[in-house]
Amino acid sequence: MRVPMIAGNWKMNTTVGEAIKLVSELCQGLDKIGNVEKVLCPPFVSLTAVRELIKGSSIKLGAQNIHFEPKGAYTGEISPLMIADLCEFVIIGHSERRQYFHENGEIVSKKLTAALAVGLKPILCIGERLKENEAGRTEEVVTEQLTSSLAGIDYPDDLVIAYEPVWAIGTGKAATGEQANGTIGFIRRSISQLLGKSTAQNIRILYGGSVTAANTAEFMNQPEIDGALVGGASLKAAEFLSIVKQTSELRR
Ligand code: PEP
Repeated sequence: MRVPMIAGNWKMNTTVGEAIKLVSELCQGLDKIGNVEKVLCPPFVSLTAVRELIKGSSIKLGAQNIHFEPKGAYTGEISPLMIADLCEFVIIGHSERRQYFHENGEIVSKKLTAALAVGLKPILCIGERLKENEAGRTEEVVTEQLTSSLAGIDYPDDLVIAYEPVWAIGTGKAATGEQANGTIGFIRRSISQLLGKSTAQNIRILYGGSVTAANTAEFMNQPEIDGALVGGASLKAAEFLSIVKQTSELRR
């Protein structure tokens, strides 16, 4: 049985003070919800403060990015070792990093390998752009992203994948449950070919893209979808709590 996961990606939002306020509003309620792995991914500068606040709770911490080198002259970067000291999870290959910071398959693969090497659990994001979707190229694009990222990785069972169609991220235009379930089923079959049947059975594949409290049930009622990576709605305490609660109830 795959335990569902709901991860909140706060992106470049919240000062340290705002992060503390948001976690304080979330902590008690989130902690009580069972049957779902709950992960908060605040900005780097708030990781330590959030870590203190969730200590002893069932809430887990993730970072939004890492560099692939363990240390050295890379001014402004944050290494996997530094993050492994604070977090259990790290988001890798988010489409905003691919789009605005030119992260290609090779860089994503290096980051994935570096994360796994220090015991971090990566949440690997893949997904097609609008033009690729409209041209019927979704399966081709996710296959290419999977193949370039996963070649030769160790500890694949620690991996979580987030299928995030780029056209659905931050747009308010979510995929339908059926569309997301279809592509996630395809991704699972591809993982079976790339990493073996048992990994494909164990690996969690989340949906991400304009998930809200109002559409959570549509996704969580689908058999292939193991949870969600939530952006905008994770910044609103009541809404994020509702997403996690609904997931717990629907997957019981
Ligand atoms: C995300 O940041 O990964 C995301 C899915 O954002 P949103 O929920 O705002 O579309």
